[in-house]
Amino acid sequence: MDKSKLIKIKCPRCGNAQTTYGRATTMVKCKGCNILLLKPKGGKAKIRAFIKHVFH
Ligand SMILES: [Zn+2]
Repeated sequence: MDKSKLIKIKCPRCGNAQTTYGRATTMVKCKGCNILLLKPKGGKAKIRAFIKHVFH
């Protein structure tokens, strides 16, 4: 998967879906319950949420 693509992720806790980049430079938190969904790590994002869709 190309990490620079836009992805739609779904929070594993509350199910809230939001769109972000696969290569995150900042932490992404859930807008619904505020848990950490995505964390930058060594240039790549560590994704802790479910990926629903990858935009091409
Ligand atoms: Zn949530």
